[in-house]
Amino acid sequence: MNPFADTVQSLREAFHSGKTRPAEFRAAQLEGLNRFLKENRDSLLAALAQDLRKPPFESEISEISICQSEINLALNSLHSWMKDEHVSKNLATQLDSAFIRKEPYGVVLIIAPWNYPLNLMLVPLVGAIAAGNCVVLKPSEMSSSVEKVIGEVLPRYLDKNCFAVVLGGPQETSALLENRFDYIFFTGNTTVGRIVMAAASQHLTPITLELGGKNPCYVDDNCDLQNVANRVAWFRFFNAGQTCVAPDYVLCSPEMREKLLPALQHAVTQFYGKDPQSSPDLARIISPKHFLRVRGLLGSGRVAFGGQSDEQERYIAPTVLVDVKETDPVMQEEIFGPILPILTVSGVEEAIAFIRKREKPLALYAFSNDSKVVHQMLDQTSSGGFCGNDGFMHLTLTTLPFGGVGNSGMGTYHGKFSFDTFSHQRGCLLRSAGLEKFNSLRYPPYAQRNLGL
Ligand code: NAD
Repeated sequence: MNPFADTVQSLREAFHSGKTRPAEFRAAQLEGLNRFLKENRDSLLAALAQDLRKPPFESEISEISICQSEINLALNSLHSWMKDEHVSKNLATQLDSAFIRKEPYGVVLIIAPWNYPLNLMLVPLVGAIAAGNCVVLKPSEMSSSVEKVIGEVLPRYLDKNCFAVVLGGPQETSALLENRFDYIFFTGNTTVGRIVMAAASQHLTPITLELGGKNPCYVDDNCDLQNVANRVAWFRFFNAGQTCVAPDYVLCSPEMREKLLPALQHAVTQFYGKDPQSSPDLARIISPKHFLRVRGLLGSGRVAFGGQSDEQERYIAPTVLVDVKETDPVMQEEIFGPILPILTVSGVEEAIAFIRKREKPLALYAFSNDSKVVHQMLDQTSSGGFCGNDGFMHLTLTTLPFGGVGNSGMGTYHGKFSFDTFSHQRGCLLRSAGLEKFNSLRYPPYAQRNLGL
């Protein structure tokens, strides 16, 4: 017997009872989520600090307030999102009612990673609740303090019959995945994404995969140097580089590289002081295993600045690498740490060719004062999302879909896109039982029908 079969079965029964269908039920759960964030703000900030030494400011803007704005948007939009969408009709259906019903899938599984353990668990949950589903939540075991709060406290704010939290690692997740779900939403790395997709295929369960990859960042010769350096440094070293949309490497000309290096170093000193290890504003690597992996990447190319590390604290200094070859380890995997390699190209065309040779990234960034260059990068490449002249600010808009393409994932969410992701769009036509004379025009014998052909 599968250890989670009973949990999934009882959620399915709750779903079939129709409990999650009314807007009032959904709104009450969303309000519960809001209360959870408000009443447990301090313990959530403490848990994030314990897991990742996440600075409270970063936790506020990238975890708590993002969830709150998604909840508030869903609460304000619930009725309009849920409404049947009436569509235009053809001659034969003029007297009928044709509409798209936004139907909840049923029992949904949400699997979250550790790098933004609250945001990446709750933002999908908001969409799943708004769409009227029952949900199994599987937080990451790596961010164990946040996992504990989610496991022990969150269920008090949600309907127990409709929402369940399952704790554990790969073994528990694998067992969970043997069950039939109506939708699976996974955020994590590409390797595990493949495992999830294979499990989903057993039941033909639709999925969203929010995966990672190497996000390129092109810096044009024509740019405001220090502004670019500040923005690149901030979003590369935010959360100690453990951000799926962080720029993974910079592409620029050799001349720009020489100017960018001191500007990046200046930004790092401004942000974290002369000794970043003592700064309260720099997070730590999640685990000893990840620390060793990231530290191993410091051996690629040459350290231009940074490069220090402290295993005890899982600290890695904000580091920029130069003279990196495409074949070096740092260019073979997603870095997911505070390391930024700079690779040189002759210009935008070569940068585009470099990007196109690789898997489609989750995000792509282009910095230039010349909008033609930014548009050229946008027009001639593909990525999950794109931001010109800044990094990951596109994520802050709930009006933009967020998701990957190709190796960086499939499906989108945020704002209404989350509601749509967790809704089956049921095409409905309600016809009159009468008007048979009109209908009889389509019945055999067809020889009597004149289609005017
Ligand atoms: P992960 O794939 O290791 O873990 C994610 C979840 O999968 C966890 O809950 C974990 O318990 C479970 N899991 C791990 N191994 C498993 C296995 N063998 N079988 C079944 N389940 C398993 O991801 P992570 O290391 O926690 O997160 C980092 C990765 O996630 C990076 O690649 C990053 O780019 C990506 N990510 C993507 C997004 C996005 O929105 N696209 C956001 C954050 C992180």
